[in-house]
Formats: sequence, C-alpha cells, structure tokens
Amino acid sequence: DLHSFPTRRSSDLVLIGNWKMNFNMHEASLYLHNLMQLLPSYRDVEVVLAPTILSLQSLSLQINRRIAKLAAQNCYWRDHGAYTGEIPAAHLRGIADYALIGHSERRYIFIESDKDIRLKVQAALRNRIKPILCIGETAQERALDETKDVLADQLTSGLANVTAEELGQIVIAYEPVWAIGTGDNAKPADVKSAVATIRRHIAHLYGKAAAEQVRIVYGGSVTVDNAADYLAIRDLDGLLVGGVSLDSHQFKEIITKAHSKEK
Ligand code: PEP
Repeated sequence: DLHSFPTRRSSDLVLIGNWKMNFNMHEASLYLHNLMQLLPSYRDVEVVLAPTILSLQSLSLQINRRIAKLAAQNCYWRDHGAYTGEIPAAHLRGIADYALIGHSERRYIFIESDKDIRLKVQAALRNRIKPILCIGETAQERALDETKDVLADQLTSGLANVTAEELGQIVIAYEPVWAIGTGDNAKPADVKSAVATIRRHIAHLYGKAAAEQVRIVYGGSVTVDNAADYLAIRDLDGLLVGGVSLDSHQFKEIITKAHSKEK
C-alpha cells in the first residue's frame, strides 16, 4: 500500500527529453541555445536532454549544467574490443550524466534482451553514468492483465547485481509501450498504480527505505496539456517526454509546470 511509505526526502523532479533519432548536430546546438535562453536555472527541477550520440560531445561543451544535463539514448556494456558500430559507456564517462537503458524502442525494434539491459545498467554505473532504466508492458501484456508481473520481472532482471547504494543513482522510467509515441497516454490513476507496484517490488528487493528513495518517472505521450495530471501524483518524481520535447517552447512549458507545482 502506497500510504505505508513515508514521504521521501527530496521533492525535486526530473524531466527528461528524449529526442530519439531527431536533430543533427547543428539543430541540436540551436535547440540547446534556445532552451538555455528560455530556461532559468530551477533548483527543484533537473532537466535532462537525450540527443543522438553524435551531438553528445559537442553539447557537453555547450551546455550549462546548472540548467540542464545530458543523457545518452543507449550505450554498449563492454569497455572496448571488436564490437563494430557500438559505443561503450566507458567513452561516455564525463560526457553523459545519464543513459537511457532498455527504452522500448531498443527492446522491441533492436531486440535488446533483459540480459543486455542488465549489463548496460552495470556498465553505466561502473562509468559514473546514471542509468534511466525503462520498463513497461506492451498492449498485449496489458490486455492479459500481466502489467504487474512484467514490471516485477523487468525490475528484477534489470537491477540484478545493483547494490542498494547504487540504486540511489538510478531513475526508473515507467513507460507503457502502447503509450509511447501513440498519443494514447496512460491514465494518471494507472500510472499511480504502476508506481506503487514498482515501489513495492523495489521494497521486496532492497527494503522499504530504498523503495522510498528511488526516483520513478512516467513516459508515454506526455504533452503540455496532460503533464500537470502526472506531476500531481505524489509518488512520481518526474516525466520522460519524447515527441513533445522536440519543441523547446513546449518542453520549457512542461518544465515550468514542474517548477511551479505545489510541493
Ligand atoms: C519516449 O521516447 O520515451 C516517449 C515517451 O515518447 P513520447 O513522449 O513521444 O510518447
């Protein structure tokens, strides 16, 4: 039961913009320039941008980290070797603050396995990059009423070998696959219940204190209009925004809603 968890220490929110495979280096730089003009440094909202891998390094030189941080959209788990086309977490160290791991587009288009995802979580942690572990049920799993089991399995697998201390570095993104890029956003009540399921499972794995502390965000067709409904969920720590984050003005509006939210 959610109410058995005491209030967590920090009410700070994290807002992640996943640009997916959009914006070349020039466009990425322009976006960042615009966003930094638009956005004051909000102490209570951590803004994270996830550009394509090509722009990460130049944006890391351009960015004011008091205003926003950077995330890789993916990383490889081995540190070096004969793995043509891959980019290791080891090379992202000091450039990316975060890495999205197990995004549903990675799981289902690029057929990443739970084992790949587990190894990537560990590689990120070992390289001082905070993993944003994405989990969520497909439409079919939802129809079969398997959401709770899917969340528990993906957490158990993704967090295997992660210590309670390391858990503090992790953000869990609840992203129901059917809600991503579809305009069919999850009902706030369903998100609330998924967040409770996630905290309950983390409590089972790590104990209650860890479950209270871990940060959980929601992603799936978040817009300027529906963002406040999610931000009102007491036990949710922020949002992962895909499509709408491509418009710096709209993304800024969502960030401002998070900042002005009554805590
Ligand atoms: C995402 O990319 O993780 C996402 C939630 O996308 P969208 O907001 O476009 O549904």
